[in-house]
Amino acid sequence: MKRDDFERLNEAQRARGAKTFANPRNAAAGALRLLDPRESKKRRLHFFAYGLGEVQGWAVPATHSGVLDALAGFGVPVNADRAVVRGAAGLVDYHQRIAARRDALPFDIDGVVYKVNDRALQERLGFVTREPRWAVAHKYPAQEQMTRLLGIDIQVGRTGKLTPVAKLEPVFVGGTTVSNATLHNEDEARRKDVRIGDTVIVRRAGDVIPEVVGVVADRRPPDAGEPFDLYQRLGGKCPVCASPIERLEGEADWRCTGGITCPAQRKQALLHFASRRAMDIEGLGDKLVDQLVDAGIVKTVPDLYRLGFTALAALERMGEKSATNLLAGIDKSKSTTLARFLYSLGIRQVGETTAKDLARHFGSIERLMDARLEELLEVLDVGPIVAQSIRHFFDQPHHRELVAQLQAAGIHWPEVAGQASDAPRPLLGKTLVLTGTLPTWSRDEAKERIEAAGGKVSGSVSKKTHFVVAGEEAGSKLDKARELGVPVIDEAGLRALLDEPAADNPPLS
Ligand SMILES: [Zn+2]
Repeated sequence: MKRDDFERLNEAQRARGAKTFANPRNAAAGALRLLDPRESKKRRLHFFAYGLGEVQGWAVPATHSGVLDALAGFGVPVNADRAVVRGAAGLVDYHQRIAARRDALPFDIDGVVYKVNDRALQERLGFVTREPRWAVAHKYPAQEQMTRLLGIDIQVGRTGKLTPVAKLEPVFVGGTTVSNATLHNEDEARRKDVRIGDTVIVRRAGDVIPEVVGVVADRRPPDAGEPFDLYQRLGGKCPVCASPIERLEGEADWRCTGGITCPAQRKQALLHFASRRAMDIEGLGDKLVDQLVDAGIVKTVPDLYRLGFTALAALERMGEKSATNLLAGIDKSKSTTLARFLYSLGIRQVGETTAKDLARHFGSIERLMDARLEELLEVLDVGPIVAQSIRHFFDQPHHRELVAQLQAAGIHWPEVAGQASDAPRPLLGKTLVLTGTLPTWSRDEAKERIEAAGGKVSGSVSKKTHFVVAGEEAGSKLDKARELGVPVIDEAGLRALLDEPAADNPPLS
């Protein structure tokens, strides 16, 4: 039974509430035991010819490989992965070649078989009881084994995902000793109905992490545990940071809502915080975050703003120059916008656009943190799930504490009037397209300003575009604008629309 046919069979079984099979071997054996051959046929079993039975009226080739080639020529299915080799070295080499491809084969194998090729020699060697002396199997390490489930731990991943992990009586499988195996998520654990004390089948194939594929139902002890319930197991709290956990409708995973303040999510949160569209800290990438966290120098986001030159320069591969540059990058990030700051907090469901909408609507972090659900729902494109997620985030005192610490560290942003006020929004209802390089504003800066003025930035020019803002080396969008007769303006024209002074003419105040 091919692996994909096996998966399909299990899916169908699941869909009609029937028992699933632990592996293709069990499923194939089950298919052969079915009383109705039409049902067996539906299971899509395959067959490879590997030898001869009774032969009449055919001059059988002198070698085993010749027989298989002839069978293939007749149209009988024969495994294509066969080879004629010489000596022990040839056999070992073949064994290794197939091992390297084992996981990529469309079906499971547990080894290869060596056969003497010369059929006359086969006959001379003969059999010992039913075992041929001219053929021997060379197995691979088993990829599945049975063992006992001792307990279920819950791990918190880098993104806050909670994964149930089976604690097992150590077992040798897939060439190594395995004592932990993933159960993927709550639904999977329930579907397999794993209970503590059960005998389970563990699979480890190739580099894939070991997983529990099923339970040996008739070996369940009378004192086996209760059906798995992740929420109950954790008392509703993240095992690392004690924040409430949640599982959204339509999602398979429970998650820790601690986000940026959960130590398990630290590295991910720092990377997100420092990313270009968030606080944009130049020089703070993957490797450095790993180093800072692993060395215990940075535990929380505000720690970034307490970094000193000495601690940084002492890090491996960190020269004086990069330390200075990083500190400058961190310092520069202190001056930001409310939208960027909100986005950098990594609140679930709050992407860049939502962060901008929230900043524009509320104007201040305090007003947002205190906003009631109904108030949040007034924001354009904010639905109940997003509103709930924001509320959830700021209901946790450690998140408010974090905001306070970051502000105390010097992070600031220009006052935004907020939609409730009468601040002019000169571009309300207008769609603009940016193309080329503007003399003083980056693409992101121009976009931010247009959006703050109520306008929308689109990626392509159409008849509905109100203005195309073109800079140096403007491309096909400019041609398109001319073709459609859309007004084209430059940065100065955009500033005029926004009611902002020209770049070389700063305000006096
Ligand atoms: Zn947590």
